[in-house]
Amino acid sequence: MDGPIVIVGGGVVGASVAWHLATRGWRDIVIVDRGAGPGEGSTGRATGGYRAQYGTAINVRLSLLTREKLRRFPDEVGADPGYLPAGYLWVAGTEWELAELRRGLPVQHAAGLLESREVDAAEVLQLNPALSPQGIAGGAWCPTDGFIRPLAMLAGYLADARRRGARTMWETEVTGFERKGAPGTTRITAVRTTRGRIEAGAVVNAAGAWAAGVAALAGAPLPIEPLRRCIVPTMPCDLLPAGMPMTIFAGDGFHLRVRDGRVLLAWPTPGSAADPYDCRVETPWIDEVAAKAAARVPVLAGVPLDRSGAWGGLYEVSPDKHAILGPAPECGNFYFINGSSGHGVMHAPALGHLLAEIITEGRATTLDTTPLRPSRFAEGEPNPVSGLL
Ligand SMILES: Cc1cc2nc3c(=O)[nH]c(=O)nc-3n(C[C@H](O)[C@H](O)[C@H](O)COP(=O)(O)OP(=O)(O)OC[C@H]3O[C@@H](n4cnc5c(N)ncnc54)[C@H](O)[C@@H]3O)c2cc1C
Repeated sequence: MDGPIVIVGGGVVGASVAWHLATRGWRDIVIVDRGAGPGEGSTGRATGGYRAQYGTAINVRLSLLTREKLRRFPDEVGADPGYLPAGYLWVAGTEWELAELRRGLPVQHAAGLLESREVDAAEVLQLNPALSPQGIAGGAWCPTDGFIRPLAMLAGYLADARRRGARTMWETEVTGFERKGAPGTTRITAVRTTRGRIEAGAVVNAAGAWAAGVAALAGAPLPIEPLRRCIVPTMPCDLLPAGMPMTIFAGDGFHLRVRDGRVLLAWPTPGSAADPYDCRVETPWIDEVAAKAAARVPVLAGVPLDRSGAWGGLYEVSPDKHAILGPAPECGNFYFINGSSGHGVMHAPALGHLLAEIITEGRATTLDTTPLRPSRFAEGEPNPVSGLL
């Protein structure tokens, strides 16, 4: 390969790719990010949930591969990723929601996640006694799901990748690509940035919610859209135990966890129609979240919220809500690792591992990544978008 592998985006996904390439012996790796330092994109805004309870085999497998890698992370990467198997508790409010959660179980079991299971309303309340018993039809539970530390994972990957020779360029925006070759054999030869030109042997698009714009600079369409997601923390409190499972209401996606002595409250927000990259937190949304929390977790009624500490960020959503992984059909040395659709931190270890295989060996060998191939939309073969999972 002539020239370095240039990774556009120094979030947890780009850092994972850099680390996995570096551990395979690549020395000439440059991460380019327009942020002032690590974590300014979505990675620094994530809640830190990890789960393997999904509705498709490929997502379950990505999570299980990640789980192995999280357990080895301290030894292999030299940092603590904060993996805490506190469990993920899905709460169904209706028989329909319960049936949807139940539909995921055989998929999970067949893909190797054996410990996920259905729970009845009484067990939901045993697993999270803080919940109101009103309106619970049952749920789904997996004890090995839980939490991770997004910024610790990012810092760990970056530090060890640097020790192994990778370079990072912050405050450097990618503004274009130089390409050569006729359509079908096009290759990128250099990356243009606000700090000059970088010769490139290959380029990885790890630009998160901004990935479609980066891909367009290379003439490679990529169907990724930003989607606003917001979190409001309570003021520090000890109303809920630190080891409480992530608890998510299947009907409307309202969820909560305890992190660093506060309860984080989340509920899917619509994006801003005027500007899809706008991630401001709106006051009516906070009020609605407070009302949901009070109704569903009575101990939280009236708890002071840290309104000024609320934050918003962006999911990077693909049309079937699955990652897009592999070389761009339009440009053979331009690789996509995009569209995790809100699961990018938890899937970064697996996806980085698999893309390093694709770049160095021509294909992923640890898992069959065919369901994630970039061409699936043009071929009319997207993954099924599961109802709730
Ligand atoms: C509120 C919220 C909660 C979430 N909770 C979870 C969770 O519990 N678990 C989970 O797994 N995921 C969660 N996510 C999703 C997760 O944050 C993302 O999937 C993940 O961070 C994506 O990582 P990334 O490295 O691809 O993107 P980012 O971290 O966004 O990194 C992309 C980088 O690309 C850079 N960039 C963009 N364009 C350019 C350019 N032209 N030139 C140079 N640099 C560029 C940006 O500066 C940025 O640093 C959450 C997201 C939000 C918003």
